[in-house]
Amino acid sequence: MSAPLLELDRISRIYPTGDVPFRALDAISLKIHAGEMVAIIGPSGSGKSTLMNILGCLDTPSAGDYHVAGQATAALEPDALARLRRNHFGFIFQRYHLLPHLDAAHNVQIPAIYAGTSTAVRHARSHELLTRLGLQDRLRHRPSQLSGGQQQRVSVARALMNGGQVILADEPTGALDSKSGEEMMALLKELHHNGHAIVLVTHDSKVAAHADRIIEMCDGKIVADSGQRAVETDKQQPSAINTQESHTWRALAGRTLEALRMAGFAMASHRLRTLLTMLGIIIGIAAVVSVVALGQGAQKKIISDINSMGTNIISIMPGKGWGDSRASAIETLMPADFEALRQEDYIDSASPSLSTSVLLRYRNLTVSASITGVSQDYFRVRGYEMAQGRIFTDTEVRQLAQAVVIDANTADTLFPGDISPVGKVLLLNSLPCRIIGVTAEKDTPFGIRDSLNAWLPYTSAMSRLIGQRYFNSITVRVVDGYDNDTAENNLTQLLIRRHGSKDFYTSSSDTILKTINKATSTMTLLIAAIAVISLIVGGIGVMNIMLVSVSERTHEIGIRMAVGARQSDIMQQFLIEAVLVCLMGGALGIGLSYLVSLVFPLFVTSITMQFTSWSIISAVSCSTLIGVSFGFLPARNAARLNPVEALSRD
Ligand code: ADP
Ligand code: MG
Repeated sequence: MSAPLLELDRISRIYPTGDVPFRALDAISLKIHAGEMVAIIGPSGSGKSTLMNILGCLDTPSAGDYHVAGQATAALEPDALARLRRNHFGFIFQRYHLLPHLDAAHNVQIPAIYAGTSTAVRHARSHELLTRLGLQDRLRHRPSQLSGGQQQRVSVARALMNGGQVILADEPTGALDSKSGEEMMALLKELHHNGHAIVLVTHDSKVAAHADRIIEMCDGKIVADSGQRAVETDKQQPSAINTQESHTWRALAGRTLEALRMAGFAMASHRLRTLLTMLGIIIGIAAVVSVVALGQGAQKKIISDINSMGTNIISIMPGKGWGDSRASAIETLMPADFEALRQEDYIDSASPSLSTSVLLRYRNLTVSASITGVSQDYFRVRGYEMAQGRIFTDTEVRQLAQAVVIDANTADTLFPGDISPVGKVLLLNSLPCRIIGVTAEKDTPFGIRDSLNAWLPYTSAMSRLIGQRYFNSITVRVVDGYDNDTAENNLTQLLIRRHGSKDFYTSSSDTILKTINKATSTMTLLIAAIAVISLIVGGIGVMNIMLVSVSERTHEIGIRMAVGARQSDIMQQFLIEAVLVCLMGGALGIGLSYLVSLVFPLFVTSITMQFTSWSIISAVSCSTLIGVSFGFLPARNAARLNPVEALSRD
């Protein structure tokens, strides 16, 4: 006689219930050969199902050895046991245990998906099996659309999908009417004739009579065994179809696709819950993306403003630094300093400035304006364009000319309509000055746009208007291409030599630019950090809902494990679901942020939100990361479930 296919040697199964552990199986030894049909009978609670679960590698014995086709199972990892289930066993349960949201054909294919069978082969085989079982017109029906007998035939087809060398049927007729029950027994006998080994649990002796061998159990022990009848050895034995499982990327892709579809089903069947879970992610991602976009927009705006002013401009002011209260009393920047600076070869142009506010009068109109005494180079240094007329000449500056350049605002205020201001005479307090030019409107970064400004040669301002012998500041423009920092250093050294001490300070637009850049980056980072906290809160929401999802679908996990899903398959399914929730949340968040950017200009016009590709990419990777990290724990919980326990849960 050949070696037994299944061999139990003093197998015990002890359940740790209460104070006294319960011995459901008590040192059972049993040999089952390929192609046998065995019925196990016995009263309820005698340990039949426990024995079946151990035979099918769903459960592990507490003591004893179990060999499947000569291979010891005790040392096998969960995934190796799953492989045995997948390739050698086919389960038929009393309550069918089909996946309710999948149609008959898909239910039948699940063992093959986990075995890595190609899609075409899978489809062909599931159709062939279902057709053989008389269900060819029920392929697309869900279990709820099938009768009990039909559902049980679907589960038989599933058991045969990967070969079904051993069919384990636990009370297969228990939930069927007598006619369907008889059909089921006829089917099992036919399978037996085709060479499948069948182990059948029943409490009905009429059903048991169909088997060649009857084993009777009581209180976890075998009390009677009718013994093995001779098996016709010429009968063709069905072997496992998938003992050579494919490990190609195609097989992996098939399993991943299955996981994706399941995640899709799960999300679609709880739409509102999924949406609410996503909300945290949506808001978090929208906040991060919007804040970063705003920060980018603000930064870009400021940089372009400063650039339009010129990045190679250095201002020299009296005092020790910004906000020095004694600065106004320091009379240190003299015309001679200005002349000396102008001689330096790294200075393109320079202009002093001293300012005061005056009453501007033209005919019967009087306005208050700011007057600045400057040199002819001022307009070049500050980047002013002329709209009308001209700027003053070197000669006019030297001759203390009473000539004034006004800005566009002042022109509009004093000369409404189409009157050209050039050539008109204004009174600055009581000093009459002729308007020689009007500047074009200019975006100033921080200036108040509706202030009125006018410029006078600094010589005239010093002696005719203000009566002051020193400047409030000197502004120089560094030669293009000359290093700003070196220029700032050089002119500082020059002025220190002239003054004997450092009674002034410099400020370069380049430095301001760097400072502002740094400040806005810091702000963006800070607000983004707050938004990230909201993302973490969202992630906790995802984790919460995934834990609920796992406990709701424990039964499904049990079924999948019974037909051969690996721990990694279960883990992948739930991880994909978590990542999918977060990715969709992320995409909706980006969309929301885009909506914000459409509405935003209605309220703020000076800044536009700037979406950069890296902010989108980091939002997407952020959501994926959240999905993986917060989905990990629930997914691992699912993967580590005990198959028998999971199956028994409703
Ligand atoms: P049968 O299928 O023959 O009716 P079972 O194999 O299901 O019996 O159960 C055998 C005994 O083991 C029963 O008394 C049952 O109460 C007990 N049992 C089964 N599963 C568990 C479990 N998970 N924990 C504790 N006791 C269990
Ligand atoms: Mg039972």
